[in-house]
Amino acid sequence: MVGRTSFSDWPSRGGAAGNVFPGKRGAAGAGAVSPWARAGRAAAAAGRCGGARGARARPRGAAGRALRPTEVPAPAPLPAWHLFSDPAEVEALRGNLLSWYDRCKRDLPWRALAATEPDADRRGYAVWVSEIMLQQTQVATVIDYYNRWMQKWPTLQALAQASLEEVNELWAGLGYYSRGKRLQEAARKVVSELAGRMPRTAEELQKLLPGVGRYTAGAIASISYGQATGVVDGNVIRVLCRLRCIGADSSSPAVIDRLWDLANVLVDRSRPGDFNQALMELGATVCVPKAPLCGECPVKQHCRARCRVEKELAFASQKLFGKPSPVPDVEDCGVGDCPLCPPATEPWDSSLGVTNFPRKAAKKAPRVMRTATCVLERRGCHGALEYLIVQRPSSGLLAGLWEFPSVPLTQDALHPRGLPAAHLIRLSIPSQVIHIFSHIHQTYVVYSLSLDGDVTVDPALSPSRWVTEDEFHASAVSTAMKKVSGTPGPFLPSLSYLGKTLGIRSTSLGCPSFRTWLLLSSGLSGSSFRC
Ligand code: SF4
Repeated sequence: MVGRTSFSDWPSRGGAAGNVFPGKRGAAGAGAVSPWARAGRAAAAAGRCGGARGARARPRGAAGRALRPTEVPAPAPLPAWHLFSDPAEVEALRGNLLSWYDRCKRDLPWRALAATEPDADRRGYAVWVSEIMLQQTQVATVIDYYNRWMQKWPTLQALAQASLEEVNELWAGLGYYSRGKRLQEAARKVVSELAGRMPRTAEELQKLLPGVGRYTAGAIASISYGQATGVVDGNVIRVLCRLRCIGADSSSPAVIDRLWDLANVLVDRSRPGDFNQALMELGATVCVPKAPLCGECPVKQHCRARCRVEKELAFASQKLFGKPSPVPDVEDCGVGDCPLCPPATEPWDSSLGVTNFPRKAAKKAPRVMRTATCVLERRGCHGALEYLIVQRPSSGLLAGLWEFPSVPLTQDALHPRGLPAAHLIRLSIPSQVIHIFSHIHQTYVVYSLSLDGDVTVDPALSPSRWVTEDEFHASAVSTAMKKVSGTPGPFLPSLSYLGKTLGIRSTSLGCPSFRTWLLLSSGLSGSSFRC
């Protein structure tokens, strides 16, 4: 019926790490720098380490007096090694990055709209749509969806009038489907409650628009409205961690907050939108996860990870030629218990070079799920094959999308028990389709069943409809279901056959008889089936 699609529902962004979703912790403008960063900047004058190791032995308050035992000490200043404390360096880094971006940036439709759209609300909307689509999704995949979306709904007002079914249909295949639904809900809110006017600052965007978190708010505000506020996504995390040798767990809230501080310090005040896009572009195309192109990097002279690698290489080469040279400084920042250095248990690994950074806590293993799915086909009144699809519930995974009738399987459900041997031969060799969601490793066990004769589906149950192959592809179906449709399972005995041998009615596809059939075919017991 259709070929398998090659991308998963959860690709990373721009060929590199995708966005992170820092949640609604309060949008930080460029002025919102934490006490850690302020303290670190103040400490910069004190040298590379920002303080002596012994400074922690006697906790002191802000005024320098010794704290009483019951008082909580203020956070120790961050070592300048991990900060951007030198204004001249910050200025140079901004200039180098922006001129590289002007020369090398990719030509992308949302960038063109952001640069040329005179209407501020449409401009904000255009950037917003791109940012939501780009979350967890490759740029190359997004372009076509973005163009079709903007053609169909060029304004917030047009999107507000669309139905959820239309949104799901256009979004089908892009993955993480609640994004489209939330985008439309937020557009309706802007139209009905804000008179169609987009909020103009990161703080307001995050506060007023459902589904807009700290990153998206910063991106819209800086790119569309020129607010000097930083952004932190997966690409920015990688670049900043390498520039400043940050090896602590980059997914921890404490480290993420420090990275927001750095992004807000760095962002260019006159071209904040371009600067933020340049930093992300650098992470997506040069400072990539596995094999960064350091030789071509426009900010390599500011990169402390690269500096360290070069020092080590110089030392190794001196040693090779038998020349005495000082041992390279292998300490990270000189501060014991530094909250941004790699943990003592996982020190710098010379074989990894700059890819020592960033580091993340090990991911939780995805949940393993198995689902029996049946591709039911019949000959339609015009002679074309038609397939039965049913709609999923309006909340939860793949909410509101359409799928072939499916039922979750328990661990041992694929070993039919109690079936006559003749049926086992036909029922026990299904095809399998594996689909990886972000947190679920899903296996669809696919059966096919060709129906002979007229069948009816109980209208009181979940919505269902018969569709041709073309209609199937135009419907709001997930990538996983498209994979299933390209992987027909073994054809099961017809209903009339089952009716004769197992006592199942062949003239009706009412839930009880169909459930009986599927339970028998899968060896399940006690599961409910939604058809
Ligand atoms: Fe990334 Fe290498 Fe550039 Fe450093 S020099 S920012 S590691 S590409």
